[in-house]
Amino acid sequence: MNDLILKSVIELFSEKRNIILIPHNSPDADALGSCLALYHFFKSKNEVTIISPNEYTEILNFLPGSNNVLVYEDNKEKCKSIFKKANVVFTLDFNSLGRARNLSSLISSSLAKIIMIDHHENPDNYADITISNSKMSSTCEMVYDFICSIDKSKIDNKIATCIYTGIVADTGSFRFPSTTSKTLKVGSELINHGVNVTEIFEKLHNNFQFKRLKLLGSTINNFKKIKGLPVVYTSITDRDQKVNNFKKGDSEGFVNFGLSVVEILCSVLFIEKKDEGLIKISFRSKGDFKVNIFASKYFNGGGHEHASGGISKLSLKETEKKFVSDIKQYINQNYE
Ligand code: 5GP
Ligand code: MN
Repeated sequence: MNDLILKSVIELFSEKRNIILIPHNSPDADALGSCLALYHFFKSKNEVTIISPNEYTEILNFLPGSNNVLVYEDNKEKCKSIFKKANVVFTLDFNSLGRARNLSSLISSSLAKIIMIDHHENPDNYADITISNSKMSSTCEMVYDFICSIDKSKIDNKIATCIYTGIVADTGSFRFPSTTSKTLKVGSELINHGVNVTEIFEKLHNNFQFKRLKLLGSTINNFKKIKGLPVVYTSITDRDQKVNNFKKGDSEGFVNFGLSVVEILCSVLFIEKKDEGLIKISFRSKGDFKVNIFASKYFNGGGHEHASGGISKLSLKETEKKFVSDIKQYINQNYE
């Protein structure tokens, strides 16, 4: 955050404010951790509400304060009236209003000051204050810096736990290339605030139902390799979800298994979302293979170089067929 931005932020919070914190649609640990860290930071002197566009995985219920999150889909009228009184709206862990889905129009028509804190490339220009850095491991690491520049002494165990959880989730436990020495330094400082490293790992990764293990098995079994290309893909059908009592967040991390295969640089997961009438796609890659440009060019999505998402309105079969032909073209044009 440069000095000019810092000055306007400090001025903005020099008096009591009505603050709304918004994560992206289907928030993950980084998005929700960012919201909750700022919730604990601001709540002693301000009126603070977290509004999530929709439900999130129950795995994240362990985050301190998560019972205060309002889900817009379930509380539309209440959320609208909170928006009317808002002075400041934070949008966290996303860079284009579309990712707030059904909240987008409430944000863009709000008279409140909009502050974006985010680590995705090429942010849209919708915020009054844009704090964006695609070199950062996570939005939570940026929220840590944001809090430190205002009042580091307020960091307590709750704030530290929320931030640490977002960082470990987005860095694959400090493994992904976005992990810097500074990320580890932040992790170290958070541990000094009493963060329970093992408990957070257990809550994030070893807290699922037996059926989720079976779903993982069938997803791995479904992997297909594209002949001659360093690409594998798999899918989860509507039926797979019904048979295995699928819950939000159950497929988190499944796509990464494709990258465990020697010489594979790109792994893709298609999930049939019957109720939304679309296929949700997750792209993961490594090395020089970048998926964000591919996701935005062919599947109306985007994200990070090595972790992106997108959607398709075709059937699952047609989507897979289109993907195989698109990725061949993309590799021919960019990597051959
Ligand atoms: P995931 O595969 O975990 O759903 O998403 C991986 C990353 O891709 C997210 O952190 C986010 O940056 C990005 N992403 C996922 N879905 C979308 C989407 O529909 N549009 C855009 N622009 N980015 C997405
Ligand atoms: Mn993130």
